[in-house]
Amino acid sequence: MVKMYYESDANIEYLKGKKIAVMGFGSQGHAQALNLKESGLDVVIGLREGSARWQKAVEFGFEVMTVDKASQAADVIQMLLPDEAQAKVYKEQIAPYMTEGKAIMFSHGFNIHFKQIVPPKNVDVLMVAPKGPGHLVRRTYTQGQGVPALIAIHNDYTGHAKDIALAYARGIGAARAGVFETTFKEETETDLFGEQSVLCGGVTELMKAGFDTLVEAGYAPEMAYFECIHEMKLIVDLIYEGGFSKMRYSVSDTAEYGDYVTGKRIITEETRKEMKKVLTEIQNGTFAKNWIVENMSNRAFFNAEKEIQKNHPVEEVGTRIRSYIPWFKK
Ligand code: NDP
Ligand code: MG
Ligand code: MG
Repeated sequence: MVKMYYESDANIEYLKGKKIAVMGFGSQGHAQALNLKESGLDVVIGLREGSARWQKAVEFGFEVMTVDKASQAADVIQMLLPDEAQAKVYKEQIAPYMTEGKAIMFSHGFNIHFKQIVPPKNVDVLMVAPKGPGHLVRRTYTQGQGVPALIAIHNDYTGHAKDIALAYARGIGAARAGVFETTFKEETETDLFGEQSVLCGGVTELMKAGFDTLVEAGYAPEMAYFECIHEMKLIVDLIYEGGFSKMRYSVSDTAEYGDYVTGKRIITEETRKEMKKVLTEIQNGTFAKNWIVENMSNRAFFNAEKEIQKNHPVEEVGTRIRSYIPWFKK
């Protein structure tokens, strides 16, 4: 059993009187920064000159600085730039100001775990990673709730790294929902595996394979889209609420029988073997290396594949389907 931490375990005093620089004002940056500010903490935003988000952050009442100035001013730095941009920005604009006793934080372990960022020994290095997208981190906070978060400690120089992580988790509202402790290694590897094999890669390929099978057999694309893609949300919502058993309780017995006899014919031993290979490539750094090289070569594969995926018939059919449903209309 993992140990859960809640607000009563998290003393926000560990961050009072400290200046927190939130680097980036994107999905996570804007959400975490606003929540921290409303929790009474001293937050500045670090952005690059010319950022379209600079003015937006100012309008929200923040002091905004360039990343190097914010690094200099801060006691605690939260890195909420895109993962693939962090190493360069760290090296050029943050590292010079990582003086003794400061803390640097992340919401994903990639750069620390794969050693793209190597902070000095005399600072705290920790993670507070909300388990949800930025807009939910913000919305749930304003509703008096929060999104659960993971914390992890990579380096505890001051002896208070975990206190700071818990105080920060409290500041963004996560300790209202529950916080559990992991390691940079575990968070990074499970996050990459989940998004590749199941959440993003697995789900979209599964849906497309179902859609293509029906369309190639001559069924209406609209029917194929409804059955194999659109309805997924309804099924996932039931699983989210009450596990597989709630979903199976809600669907017909015919659907439940089909689930039992057919599921293992689709996700076969071969699929499971491939998942193990995917995991190995994450663990041994092959995936990280490929992604880093891809970014260094201007994303040749990424951009080409993005174009191909955008032009798959599912996207056009989906747009049409949503236009038929009154509440999807803008
Ligand atoms: P976004 O892409 O939404 O935001 C990135 C921010 O960084 C923007 O404000 C952008 O500003 C700024 N930025 C980009 N490049 C630079 C640069 N070179 N110098 C200075 N600023 C720059 O990022 P996310 O919020 O999605 O991700 C941030 C972190 O949070 C990542 O580590 C991610 O893994 C993690 N995370 C994200 C989740 C999510 O919900 N998206 C969920 C959990 C963790 P501009 O372009 O205007 O300059
Ligand atoms: Mg991820
Ligand atoms: Mg059906």
